[in-house]
Amino acid sequence: MGVVPPYSVEQTFGKTEWIYFDGAFVPWDDARLHVLSAVVQYGSGVFEGIRAYNAGTHMTIFRLHDHLQRLLDSARAYYMDIGMTTNQIAEICVELIRRNKGLGTYLRPNIFRGYGELGVNVLPCRPQLSVAYWNWGKYLGADALERGVRLEISPFRRMSPDVLPPTVKAAVNYGNGQLAKAHALMNGFADAIMLDRDGCICEGTGMNLFFVRDDVLWTPPVSSCILEGYTRDAIIWLAGEIGIRVREEPIPMMFFHRCQEVFATGSASEVTPVVEIDRAVIGDGTPGSLTMLLQQSFSNLISQRPNPRLGRVIAPPEASWLTRVTLEAPAPVTA
Ligand code: PMP
Repeated sequence: MGVVPPYSVEQTFGKTEWIYFDGAFVPWDDARLHVLSAVVQYGSGVFEGIRAYNAGTHMTIFRLHDHLQRLLDSARAYYMDIGMTTNQIAEICVELIRRNKGLGTYLRPNIFRGYGELGVNVLPCRPQLSVAYWNWGKYLGADALERGVRLEISPFRRMSPDVLPPTVKAAVNYGNGQLAKAHALMNGFADAIMLDRDGCICEGTGMNLFFVRDDVLWTPPVSSCILEGYTRDAIIWLAGEIGIRVREEPIPMMFFHRCQEVFATGSASEVTPVVEIDRAVIGDGTPGSLTMLLQQSFSNLISQRPNPRLGRVIAPPEASWLTRVTLEAPAPVTA
């Protein structure tokens, strides 16, 4: 690889053997597209990011069906119909994990438009499905979960629903995210906080945000142009289970100055403490106790270990939150 710029965060990425691509499982390097595909020309695609956790002889996929429902909902928003149900795509995901012997930690289904018309009318270009599975380490750096990250308030605002629908996970939304992310990295931060059209806190480039003030959790509502993250939803649910109050309300930009803790949630970033925003230190500059309690509670929910506050295992509200994929042989723990 070329020179790694100093503003790059350390990241691990392990490719696997097989990718599902337009109807078949193909070797990783053979999942290729024509350069004039609508997704290359105009970003005509939607996708999902789903974590699969290694439990030795099996993998546990977190909220597979919810993510696949959002995938199909996002596709519908862009008039794409691949004629498949969430159950059918779930079977592909499970088969992909088995074929790749459980060596990954992250699933990436994409629905995108391929090669056809070359104009902005992408409707004639056939929608296709791919699913990749790889080993993705700590999204915001090796020690992000333990030590926390620093974020900047981005000069780029998150798009409003009258520009692009923020509640669907479309590739084009990440044009906005790419600008914000690159700006943050070049300024020495791990990620950005984007504001909404009203100047209230929205989210990071790939994660939702929570603020802790006097033991109450605050998080922006859907009307603040967020993507309604499933990790966010799980944290809100877990907070209720362990007796922490949650307020979903518009959050003014400078609110963080009056908070003791801040953290970010997402499939890739999991529950990541935020210790600094725009050079203002949050709390004492180390991950807060409520953040770490929720991080551990989230992890223990997935592995079905006892909750650290309650001392007993909490079952998820729906069995479909945890999909177990049995492996032929135990997979080595990679992340
Ligand atoms: N916001 C954005 C823009 C994202 O890309 C993600 C990651 N999918 C999230 C929030 C968090 O969503 P989830 O918890 O469902 O991964």
